[in-house]
Amino acid sequence: MSISDAMIKNPPLPKNFAPEFLVIDKGEGIHLFDTAGNKYLDFGAGIAVNALGYGREDLIQAGYNQMKKLIHISNLYATAPQVEFAGKLISSGNFSAVHFGNSGSEANESAIKYARLYSLRTKGPHHHKILCFNNAFHGRTMGALSCTPTPKYQDPFGPLIPGIVTADFNDTKGLSDILDESFAAVIVEVIQGEGGLARMTNSFAGELNTLCKKHNIILIADEIQTGIARTGTLYASQGVGLNPDIITLAKPLAGGLPLSATLIPGKINDLLHVGEHGTTFGGGPVTTAVGLVVWKILTDPAFIKEVEKKGELLAKELTALSGRYSFLGAVKGKGLLAGIEVNVEDETFSKIIPSAMEKGLLVLRSGKNTIRIAPPLVITQDDLVNGCAILEQVFKEL
Ligand code: PLP
Repeated sequence: MSISDAMIKNPPLPKNFAPEFLVIDKGEGIHLFDTAGNKYLDFGAGIAVNALGYGREDLIQAGYNQMKKLIHISNLYATAPQVEFAGKLISSGNFSAVHFGNSGSEANESAIKYARLYSLRTKGPHHHKILCFNNAFHGRTMGALSCTPTPKYQDPFGPLIPGIVTADFNDTKGLSDILDESFAAVIVEVIQGEGGLARMTNSFAGELNTLCKKHNIILIADEIQTGIARTGTLYASQGVGLNPDIITLAKPLAGGLPLSATLIPGKINDLLHVGEHGTTFGGGPVTTAVGLVVWKILTDPAFIKEVEKKGELLAKELTALSGRYSFLGAVKGKGLLAGIEVNVEDETFSKIIPSAMEKGLLVLRSGKNTIRIAPPLVITQDDLVNGCAILEQVFKEL
């Protein structure tokens, strides 16, 4: 399939997407190729999605076999891959059920709805508030957007949903002045994936655990970007001692197919009635059949250990880089969701991603001044070092 240059310059896509973009043709392993045949080392993985890289026969076969049998049937019926995958997901923690969806935003919408339902049925009306944090990113649908307190994302779309309160991330002391019984939920990322890669402190996690328990508040960990091995533990919550009631997952869940999951505990599941929440496409047989293959690989303790080791190497490389250039700042994130602060003017910062692209490396931005690295988890140590060397060339030319 080919598209004309005119169409690339003026694509029939909404103007909220950047006007100049790369047209990717295919992927192999941890590399991508554009339509002109240029090869790129992928430090972005489709925004932390393609954990297993590209062109995997095992995923292709699982999807193909399932498509031949049944592609879609809706949630009026169950399918074996859906039920089997839900079983695997609930056994990853203290959960009793999984609501499948199609995107990260949708997983968080479900989490917010379940928390409000739980609060209404256990504490009564007027206990519906939700606490979120500055620089958080929970998605772009109305509920998730309301918990994403960045003016650029929110301002054009008000009014947002009522009852949302915002606090500073990692302000452990301030939490007890804010949270009380009137809150239904706290929604939080362990690492702020889009907001500069700040990582939750253990003391903040501990205080959230304590206060949510004390006031019967549902603690929602948005692990859409951090979940399933990316940070060197199955869930990033485990790395900081956070004990969420609900975990939301999406990005790597089905190897690049759209699938999300909202993992809920028995205390919520026991209160639900048929028809109160639902989905047409969520948890279809194809996405969950592929998800089962992905899950088996990503949850292998030896695989997770490797990610942890690769994360340590990446942090070492970035720290060394930071020591060599005065405009580079803190090394952020954890595991293979890492980043480095680049303290330059906006105009200079905006040259980094295109310059890396020209040199054959795809990287991401996080927040105002952080370059984010979220490669496929199957990347080798050598390729992490190679990518950092390309990044150094970019910094040298800034
Ligand atoms: N939550 C987090 C932490 C995310 O990083 C994202 C997307 O980047 C979302 C939610 C929203 O996911 P989606 O874009 O699939 O709706």
